[in-house]
Amino acid sequence: MKNIVILGATGSIGLNTLDVIARHPDKYRTLAISAHSNWKGLNELCKKHKPKYAILVEEEAAENLRNISPKGVEVLSGESALDNIASHDEADFVMAAIVGGAGMSSTFSAAMAGKRIMLANKESLVLGGALLMNAVKKSGAEIIPVDSEHSAIFQCLQAGKDGLNKIQLTASGGPFLNRPFESLNTVTPEEACKHPNWKMGQKISVDSATMMNKGLEVIEASFLFNLPASQIEVVVHPQSIVHSCVYYDDGSVLSQLGLPDMRSAISYALSFPERHSSGVKPLDLTKQPPLEFFPPDLKKYKCLEIAYLAIKKGGGAPGTLNAANEVAVDAFLKNKIGFLDISKIIERTLNETPGQNLDTLASVVENDQLSRQLALSLISKND
Ligand code: NAD
Ligand code: MG
Repeated sequence: MKNIVILGATGSIGLNTLDVIARHPDKYRTLAISAHSNWKGLNELCKKHKPKYAILVEEEAAENLRNISPKGVEVLSGESALDNIASHDEADFVMAAIVGGAGMSSTFSAAMAGKRIMLANKESLVLGGALLMNAVKKSGAEIIPVDSEHSAIFQCLQAGKDGLNKIQLTASGGPFLNRPFESLNTVTPEEACKHPNWKMGQKISVDSATMMNKGLEVIEASFLFNLPASQIEVVVHPQSIVHSCVYYDDGSVLSQLGLPDMRSAISYALSFPERHSSGVKPLDLTKQPPLEFFPPDLKKYKCLEIAYLAIKKGGGAPGTLNAANEVAVDAFLKNKIGFLDISKIIERTLNETPGQNLDTLASVVENDQLSRQLALSLISKND
C-alpha cells in the first residue's frame, strides 16, 4: 500500500489523480490533499477520499474548512505545510500538481526527502532544474514525469539511451493553429482557454495557445533527460495521439500513443515500472482521423523561439522566462494586455535581466521575484 500526497488536488491534474487512485483502493491510500484557497472544493474531496490531512495555503480558507471538514481530517495551513507534507515520513509518492512557480518549494522538499515525485509541475524544473536533479540524485528520490510528452519519452527510454539521436516533443498547436497571425491580437481569454484536445487549467491552456507550454517543456526535457536543446525538437501534431518520439541512430523511432487523457501518464507515474488500468478508453487507430505532423510556425509561436533562446542564455534565463510568462498570462487573463503582448513582455524581461548563474535555492527564488517585478513594471508601463 502506497501513501499518496496530492498537491494541487482541486486542479485538473489533481482531480484526475484522485480518479486513478480511487480505482485501486488495494494499492493506494490518499494521505493528503491540498489547494490554494478553494476550501469548498477541498471539503468535497475530503468527504469522498478521506485523507488524513487537508492543506490550504490561505489561513482564512483553512479556518473555514476546519469548521466543516469531516471527522478524522486534520486541516493544515500555509506554504510551509505544503513543504512539510511533501517530506512527511508517511508519504511514499508526491503528486506535484500545483500550477506555476508556487509549486517549486514543495517539489524540492519531496526531492530532498527521497520521495517518488510524480511531476506535473514543469515550472519546478524550469526554475531550478539543475539544483532539483542534483537533490534527487543525492537523496535517492525519483522523478516520474506526468507531462504527457515527457511520460511518453520516459516510457520509450526504458529501451535505453544507447544510440539516441534526438527526442521530439509533439505539440497540438492549441486553439489558434488555423488562425492567421494578424488576427491574434483580438483573441479573448475565453478563446485562448478553449483547447481543442485537452481539458486543462487556465494557465496551461493559455501557454498552449502561445506555445510557451512547449517552450517550458523543451526546458523541462533538457533537465529530465540530460539533453542539450539541439537534441530536442518540436513538431506540431494537431490530433494529440502520438505523445512524443525518440529517434535512434539506426533509423528506429519509438513513440507512445494514446487518447489525449492525462490519466494514462498519471497511472504510469503511480504504477511504474508496472502498469494498471487508468479509466482511459482504448485507442482505436482505425477510427482516428489521419495523423498529421508539421514544423511549428515560429512567427506565430514566438514564445517557443524565446524559450530556445533562454536555454542558450542559460543561468537564470529559463527562470526569468517562466516568471515573466506567469505574470503576462495573469495580466492577459485579467484583460490587462493583449494576447500578442505576452511574448513581448517575456522577451523584454529576458533582455533586461542578466542571466547570472543560480547555484542555491535562495538565488533561484530571488531571480524569480526580481523577474516578476520587472515584468509587472513593464506591464504597467504598457497601460
Ligand atoms: P489547475 O489550475 O487546474 O490547478 C492548479 C492547482 O494548484 C489547484 O489545486 C490550485 O488550488 C493549486 N494552486 C494554485 N495556486 C497555488 C499556490 N499559489 N499555492 C498552492 N497551490 C496552488 O492546473 P493544472 O492544469 O492541473 O496544472 C497543474 C500543473 O500540471 C501545472 O504545472 C501544469 O503545467 C501541469 N500540467 C498540466 C496538464 C493538464 O492537462 N492540466 C498537463 C501537463 C502538465
Ligand atoms: Mg505536456
